[in-house]
Amino acid sequence: MKKQKIIIIGAGYGGLKAVEQLAKSKKAEILLFDKHPYHYMQTEVYDFIANENDFAKITIDLFTFCHGFDDNVTFYKEEVIHIETKNKKIITNLQRYSYDYLIIASGATTNLLDSVKGLKEYSHGVKSLKRALYFKQKFELSLFNKIEEEGKQCTPLNIVVAGGGLSGVEIAAQMASFSNEFYKNNHFLCRKLNIVIVNSGEKILKGVDNRLVTQSINRLEKLGVLIKNSCRVSEVRKDEVILSDKEVLPIDFMIFTGGIKPTPLVESLEMPKDKRGFLQSNEYLQCLGYSDVFAIGDCTSIKDSMGNSLAPTADISEQMGILSANNILSLIDGKKLKKHNISSRGLLIAIGRKYTVGKLFGLYFKGYSAYILKKLVEKVYAKRLAYISYKGCKKIFS
Ligand SMILES: Cc1cc2nc3c(=O)[nH]c(=O)nc-3n(C[C@H](O)[C@H](O)[C@H](O)COP(=O)(O)OP(=O)(O)OC[C@H]3O[C@@H](n4cnc5c(N)ncnc54)[C@H](O)[C@@H]3O)c2cc1C
Repeated sequence: MKKQKIIIIGAGYGGLKAVEQLAKSKKAEILLFDKHPYHYMQTEVYDFIANENDFAKITIDLFTFCHGFDDNVTFYKEEVIHIETKNKKIITNLQRYSYDYLIIASGATTNLLDSVKGLKEYSHGVKSLKRALYFKQKFELSLFNKIEEEGKQCTPLNIVVAGGGLSGVEIAAQMASFSNEFYKNNHFLCRKLNIVIVNSGEKILKGVDNRLVTQSINRLEKLGVLIKNSCRVSEVRKDEVILSDKEVLPIDFMIFTGGIKPTPLVESLEMPKDKRGFLQSNEYLQCLGYSDVFAIGDCTSIKDSMGNSLAPTADISEQMGILSANNILSLIDGKKLKKHNISSRGLLIAIGRKYTVGKLFGLYFKGYSAYILKKLVEKVYAKRLAYISYKGCKKIFS
């Protein structure tokens, strides 16, 4: 039987899970596309910023990763520009490729709102590795510059984090914790850091278990992070931020984690989408009206069995990756498709160095033990991918 050609767009958490699952089948030829040559572990950015990880530890090379399978997976470092669903083809910046089945797993981008003056010019995002790297360097340099001020009048370092979701909270806590230790361990006198989280909702961490929210707020307060709820950023200037309540906050820099939007590829597609522009799919994860096209991860929206929207996380993306792959294999074999029963298996939130709060399979964890658990989950994930990559590397050089 001729192998079925399956294209996956996006080598994020969802895309890689789909690759692993599909690669087990002898009937599938898998073509993985990403505009970057690496898989970026966004969930570990908090440690990257705090210098616990360098960028080699939060990336996996996709060429060697794909070589780690039985010759049925090929990686293409190409950006997909468009999809011709009628002709079953994708168009990249280099050429066209045809598919039998397609998985769109292109994630999302930071929603730098056009309506907020100065946001694009003066704020940083962390959804791409390049931006996270730039921001990390800027943060360290700012701390260094403050030390240079020793002996003179010591001015505080002012940081605003716009967005009180998971990424904003983790990054604010990590920066506060890192700089507290940095100044303390080195006995520097000039040690003032002001971090403010500007959050549009009534509480930070919307949609997260209440107990975890309370624990996170307590910990952030302990770290000296100020939270401003029911407030938005109205304008960003080079050295200040104007809030919706007219307060003006001085900034050395601002990080924007206030929401995500679909990628340009998804924006370009004329397929059914929700109000925010994310792809709509059915209970089998097929895009509405397309039996051969699946959408998984942050590029789509999904509800649990109770009809509640599920927050976009790596955990949800991975579960969707496995199910979409299994459903494609069922289509190939003429078997019945499986409906999704996806729900959050848990969440571990890093709130500063070596401190985590979380809930996993219904159990609560807090403090250092939770931190160890989070590290374990991350290590297992990274080691598994690194092992496949290592096998690929050995194959290439043998
Ligand atoms: C700072 C931060 C902390 C987080 N912490 C957690 C956490 O603790 N736990 C958790 O579960 N989740 C966390 N998340 C959320 C999690 O990272 C995302 O939900 C997850 O990455 C989504 O996976 P995905 O596969 O849908 O997309 P992504 O992982 O974003 O991958 C999408 C891929 O598609 C590629 N791509 C996009 N467009 C194209 C194109 N046109 N052509 C080719 N390639 C393309 C991109 O280069 C990328 O590699 C965090 C996110 C951030 C930013």
